[in-house]
Amino acid sequence: CGIVGYIGKRDVAPLLLEGLQRLEYRGYDSAGVVINTPKAPALRMVKAKGRVRDLEAKVPKRFAGTTGIAHTRWATHGAPSDENSHPHLDAESKVAVVHNGIIDNADDLRAKLLADGVVFASDTDTETVVHLIARAQAETLEEKVREALRHVEGTYGLAVMHADFPDRIVVARNGSPVVLGIGEKEMFVASDVAALVSHTRQIVTLGDGEMATLKADDFRTYTTEGSTTSSTPTTVEWEA
Ligand code: GLU
Repeated sequence: CGIVGYIGKRDVAPLLLEGLQRLEYRGYDSAGVVINTPKAPALRMVKAKGRVRDLEAKVPKRFAGTTGIAHTRWATHGAPSDENSHPHLDAESKVAVVHNGIIDNADDLRAKLLADGVVFASDTDTETVVHLIARAQAETLEEKVREALRHVEGTYGLAVMHADFPDRIVVARNGSPVVLGIGEKEMFVASDVAALVSHTRQIVTLGDGEMATLKADDFRTYTTEGSTTSSTPTTVEWEA
């Protein structure tokens, strides 16, 4: 349902929770957040069935990071529960994914992954994407995501973090909105400009079949096949 992400220098958890609150009007049944810090790259995740304030209550006092992605979920595959809330991680906690949309061939993908010995932690369609990325042979995170998406049919707005690539967030869009917010030495991503406009009015809207890499001081957009796309930000007008 709702996605918010940030990479920069600021303490990320309060920023992401504020962003999720701005998306609450869309409706949801659960929420979650995963963060990282380039200094000690290990993903830390908290998720909760219920409201964003229920999530906030579960976030530990010390939850410091400067990169993170967060989600409000409207369940389509798997009941609303803590486990089925996003983000989803692979078994080694290397890959984290938040997803809006529906993976149409999730049953098929799940059966193949189970046959290969993958252990699932949720009933969601989204988790299949996590394991495909974790098992991809490609070297870069961008190529891993691309390799995974070749197997995926359906709609997605995706944001991906990887403990081995702590300097970036990779996002992809097919049928579910993804907008980038371009800041000064900080970058934002969201499913809706409402989550971004308190921080930046410089917006790049991804098209279907487009991906992007966000780093603290840089971003680029490209197609799922890898060719660069134009990404000049536009200034969004917004009544506060
Ligand atoms: N299909 C996913 C799920 O059920 C994502 C739902 C959403 O867009 O929030 O977890």
